[in-house]
Amino acid sequence: MNQSFILNQLAEDRENYFHAVAPPIIQTSNFAYPTVDEFKFAIENEKDQHIYTRGNNPTVDMLCKKMAALEGSEDCLMVGSGAAAISNAVISQVNAGDHIVSVKNPYSWANHLMTRILPRFKVETTFVDGTVFENFVEACKPETKVIYLESPSSWTFELQDLAQIAAFAKSRGIITIIDNSYCTALCQRPIDFGIDLVIYSATKYYNGHSDVVAGAICGSKEKITQIFHNEFMTFGNILAPHNAWLMLRSLRTLPIRLKQSSETTLKVLEYLQNSDKIERIWYPFSDDNPQKDLAQRQMKMPMGMFTVALKNRNVSTIKKFCESLQNFLIAVSWGGHESLIMPKCAFVEANDPQVSMLRFYIGLEEASTIIEDLDKNLALL
Ligand SMILES: *Cc1c(COP(=O)(O)O)cnc(C)c1O
Repeated sequence: MNQSFILNQLAEDRENYFHAVAPPIIQTSNFAYPTVDEFKFAIENEKDQHIYTRGNNPTVDMLCKKMAALEGSEDCLMVGSGAAAISNAVISQVNAGDHIVSVKNPYSWANHLMTRILPRFKVETTFVDGTVFENFVEACKPETKVIYLESPSSWTFELQDLAQIAAFAKSRGIITIIDNSYCTALCQRPIDFGIDLVIYSATKYYNGHSDVVAGAICGSKEKITQIFHNEFMTFGNILAPHNAWLMLRSLRTLPIRLKQSSETTLKVLEYLQNSDKIERIWYPFSDDNPQKDLAQRQMKMPMGMFTVALKNRNVSTIKKFCESLQNFLIAVSWGGHESLIMPKCAFVEANDPQVSMLRFYIGLEEASTIIEDLDKNLALL
């Protein structure tokens, strides 16, 4: 389906809403039926009917249809956060006694789910270096039900070969789940490589204005329906209609926002590669990344987040550098209009080998503004 059609026309149903160009926010908890028979029919077909907003809501449905179409998946569930997408999707695929193989150092709350919460229910996880395919094969046991991926991963941006892992998992009847937040469907479509469930923190690029926390789970009609009737309805981590509406607004500009962030990032990286203050850069499309070929095969464009290590390892100097930048906010998250810096020294002790790592997200500012800012402040290191 054509991307512009998806973002501007698909599922808008304007004939139902006075032909309003912007969709309405259907801010209601429940829906009434004129007859008991129609009510009974709705109850029996809850996945496709409007009964109660914990299940379905027209504003949220509109967003789900667009997200599924962008993904090339049969269906999508929107949830209240990326963390909810992770927990709903993973828990939906395991029972007590089952085993998960996960890429090492996944997003922190995915890690928490697999190391702290699931063991309470007798689900164990083995973490592997995902850059080597054979590690997944070796770690899988007869009880393995899920392979959990994040490509590229947070902070150091290691990739996994999605087609190879998906083919292996299928041959063993193992479900593959990927956190695709870094890429979005515009850059990488895991379903095309055979991955079963694709999850997102839609808080990041999809919403992109730093004003909504949201998540998405994309997959086959069968898997999404199963999750809907079980974890989704039970955990109740729904996306409110108003937040879905803000996201519909945000999707209109998704391609142009990604393009701007991507193009600026390449210019900023070109500048940083020539700086004698930088020890190392982690970025999928860097020339010195041993996985650059894989990045070019799997990812349609370079994205806007990377990590650098400064040569200077003095924590007070690093703090001063971060605080002096005028166009970078010190904050978690990413994918919004604003450039961000996340210093590792906020998470580790001064003697940690990673202390000089800085994760940058490049927002929608002019490249020249950002580079001038970096240049001025790197000179003081
Ligand atoms: C932020 C993030 C999440 C969690 O999403 P929330 O919307 O904050 O719950 C998951 N995965 C990645 C890669 C993230 O960056």
